[in-house]
Amino acid sequence: MSFCCICGEQGKVRHGLNICDKHYNQISFFTQETVQKKVDTYGVAYEDMVNQRLEELEKKYIMSKLKLLDIKEKLHKFI
Ligand SMILES: [Zn+2]
Repeated sequence: MSFCCICGEQGKVRHGLNICDKHYNQISFFTQETVQKKVDTYGVAYEDMVNQRLEELEKKYIMSKLKLLDIKEKLHKFI
């Protein structure tokens, strides 16, 4: 059994992440037609654009997490 990485309720693995139906359905996924339009517009470069956005998102996530972990570590000196 897997649990939603957002709320902790029972979830399913989708794209490598555990997520429940409620949160999965809140995501505004592109339709197949929308993806086709993007490919028509940008060609094969569209996949590179998506990969680049994923890399940037992961880097921002890591930087934000490090900042919060640092704050948390400093908080222990006062609390
Ligand atoms: Zn959830």
